Amino acid sequence: ELILAFESSCDETSVAVIKNGDTILSNIIATQINSHKRFGGVVPEVASRHHVEQITEVIDLAMKEAKVTYDDLDAVAVTYGPGLIGSLLIGVTAAKTVAFAHNLPLLPINHIAGHIYAAQLVKPLVYPLLALVVSGGHTELVYMQAAGDFKIIGDTRDDAAGEAYDKIGRVLGINYPAGKEVDRLAHLGQDTFNFPRAMDDSEDLDFSFSGLKSAFINTVHHADQIHETLSREDLATSFQAAVVDVLTHKTLRALHDHPVSQLVVAGGVAANQGLKERLTKELANTDIDLIVPPLRLCGDNAAMIGAAAHVALAKKQFGSLDLSADPGLDFDHA
Ligand code: ATP
Ligand code: MG
Ligand code: FE
Repeated sequence: ELILAFESSCDETSVAVIKNGDTILSNIIATQINSHKRFGGVVPEVASRHHVEQITEVIDLAMKEAKVTYDDLDAVAVTYGPGLIGSLLIGVTAAKTVAFAHNLPLLPINHIAGHIYAAQLVKPLVYPLLALVVSGGHTELVYMQAAGDFKIIGDTRDDAAGEAYDKIGRVLGINYPAGKEVDRLAHLGQDTFNFPRAMDDSEDLDFSFSGLKSAFINTVHHADQIHETLSREDLATSFQAAVVDVLTHKTLRALHDHPVSQLVVAGGVAANQGLKERLTKELANTDIDLIVPPLRLCGDNAAMIGAAAHVALAKKQFGSLDLSADPGLDFDHA
């Protein structure tokens, strides 16, 4: 079974060809980061224009690298939300065009389901499983009783983890997206600031990162005012220690309440080394299998959409050719 998958929800234009939901034949990712860097974040209008300019070439590259023809394909899959409306529409339109032209079924896929299913490209998934979704726009604990069944059992009350990284990174003078560089600095310093671990011991499985972000920014501004220079390494280490502490504690609590044999870490922040090291350590003496996808599959990419689409195809969750994008899509409508 071959699926041609599209992902254009934010600032990556990506097309992949996935075999049987677990094998990558191609996964072309055209990133626009350089066009957005100088604005300190993704500019929606700029993103849409780049998607339009790149999509045709990215499709051609994906087909060529996979060495397949349109006749070989069984379905076309596309991210239809959540994300930026203008960006999503480019992928949705391209996918519908290919589906119509080659008479292929269309599979609408939830972007966050895609992030979780990136794990299926690493190894077969065993249900029930727990997923910690940590990305630019989401921080959620998702319990999956079965394939394609998503239940959010924990959520952020304010900022997403990736968003917090990007915002404090800006204060440290790091270009968007800052997560990777903050992670690097965090391995060079000490946790000297003891930033707040919000909601760490609350009974629920929810997160909050805006207090941590404010504490960080206030600390740096206060030092600026008294002309004191703080160690960027120590700031990064202290910030990351707080984020990793909270993510780890809530995840362990969720695992305690919901016994599973696999923990999937998904989304751009899953690339974080500090988080991976900590979860690896915490789960070392348990029967729980930690799955963190390789770097390239943590950030936005179409391979993960093709992996999720394998499940959607088995469930015959087809979309019609009047499919539109849904920027606020959640799991209740996935
Ligand atoms: P969403 O998936 O919620 O719609 P998104 O697609 O914009 O949001 P992703 O592409 O999944 O988000 O992830 C991007 C985020 O991951 C950015 O905020 C980036 O800073 C963060 N990130 C990338 N690498 C790391 C890292 N090593 N440590 C921490 N954060 C990281
Ligand atoms: Mg991105
Ligand atoms: Fe994403």
